[in-house]
Amino acid sequence: MAKVILTKNRSKRIEHGHPWVFKTEIETVEGDFNPGDIVDVVNFKGKFLGRGYINPKSQIAVRFLTENKDEAVDREFFKKRIIAALKYRQSLEFRGSFRVVYGESDFLPALIVDKFEDILVIQTLALGMDRFKPVIVDVLREIFNPRGIYERNDVPVRELEGLPQQKGFLYGEFDPIVIIEENGLKFYVDVEKGQKTGFFLDQKENRQSLAPLVKGADVLECFCYTGAFAIYAARFGAKNVLAYDVSAEAVECANKNAEINNLSHICRFSEANAFDVLRRFYDEGRKFDVVILDPPAFAKNKFALENAVRGYKEINLRGLKLLKPGGYLVTSSCSHHVSEALFMEIIESAAFDAKLKLRLVESRTQAKDHPILLPAEETRYLKFLILQLL
Ligand code: SAH
Repeated sequence: MAKVILTKNRSKRIEHGHPWVFKTEIETVEGDFNPGDIVDVVNFKGKFLGRGYINPKSQIAVRFLTENKDEAVDREFFKKRIIAALKYRQSLEFRGSFRVVYGESDFLPALIVDKFEDILVIQTLALGMDRFKPVIVDVLREIFNPRGIYERNDVPVRELEGLPQQKGFLYGEFDPIVIIEENGLKFYVDVEKGQKTGFFLDQKENRQSLAPLVKGADVLECFCYTGAFAIYAARFGAKNVLAYDVSAEAVECANKNAEINNLSHICRFSEANAFDVLRRFYDEGRKFDVVILDPPAFAKNKFALENAVRGYKEINLRGLKLLKPGGYLVTSSCSHHVSEALFMEIIESAAFDAKLKLRLVESRTQAKDHPILLPAEETRYLKFLILQLL
C-alpha cells in the first residue's frame, strides 16, 4: 500500500476529524499506486492519520475511510459501515423511505444511498468509491434484500474525479416509478428521470413545520418540484395552494401526487418560471398568507456566490411583497456555499429594501438522515427559515 506523507505546515483540519486530504497538503507519496487505490496517510513525522482512497486528478486527493490502522477496507468494512448507518436511522425511527448513507457523515465518503420503500438508489461520486460499486451493491442486497437498485451517477461532480456521468439499473428489473409514503402522505418518485435521486428526502421534517401556519390559508409555492410542500400544506388545512415549477415532468408528477392524496381540489400546479410568477402576482396586487420558496442551489461552487446571492435576494424580496401582514415566508437554500448567517443577511436586506419588518419564527436544516459531521462543514447545506411579516 502506498503511503501519502503530508506537509508540515498545514492546518490541523484532519486532526480535527475532517475526512479529506487536499492535493496541496501532500509532501510526497512513497510507493506505487493507481488512481482509486487505498493508501495510508501519515503526517510529516510518520504518524498514521488515516486510510482512504486516492485520486491525483481531484483537488480532494484522499478521502478517509478509516482512522483505525487495524481496519482493512474490504467487503466486511462496507457491511459494517452500512449497518451502522442503517442502525442510526432506525434508532431515530426512520422507516420506509429515507437516506441510508450520507457520504462523509457516515464515514463512507462520496457514497449516497437513498431508500425508496423496497428500491435503493445509489450515487458513487468519487473514483475510489466508484471502484467499490460491485461490493456495495452486493452488501446492500444482503442487508436490505431490495426489489431493485438503481444508479444515479448522472451528476457533473463526477467529472472532477475523471468519472463519466451515467445512470441505470444495477440490480433487478423494476418499474422506476415508485410510490413512497412520507408522514402519512403518498408520493410518486421517478428514480430514473426524477431530479437527483428522485425525491428530496432532506426536507421531510421541514415539511411538517408547515402544520401550524397554513390552516385556512392561501398558499403560494414556487420551485415546487413534485409538489411535496404544496401537498403537505393542503393536508394541513390550506384553503388554496398555487404551486409552480419550470419542469413540465415535475408538474405532471405533482398533479399525480395531489390525486393519490385526494387533494387535487386544493392544489393547483402549473409549469412556469418562478421569477415571472412572482413578478406577475406582484403586478396584479395578489396577496397570500404563506409563500414557500425552495429553489435549486443557485451557488453550485464558491465562484458563483455573487450571482447566487442576487438570485436569493430577488426571489425572497418578491416573495415578501406578496405576503399579507402576519403572513409567513417559508424559504430555503440548499447551497452549501451560502451559510445560514449569509442567508439570514440576504433575507434581512430583502426586507429592508421592501420596507418590511420580519421576525424569525423557526430556523431548521436538513433532516436527521442527512446528519452534519461537525469537522466537515461541507456536510451542512440546507437552510430552512420561517419568517413572519409584521
Ligand atoms: N421543494 C421541492 C424541491 C424543489 S427542487 C420538494 O420538496 O420536493 C427545486 C425545483 O426548482 C426543481 O424542481 C426545478 O425544476 C425548479 N426550478 C429551477 N429553476 C426554476 C425556475 N426558474 N422557476 C421555477 N422552477 C424552477
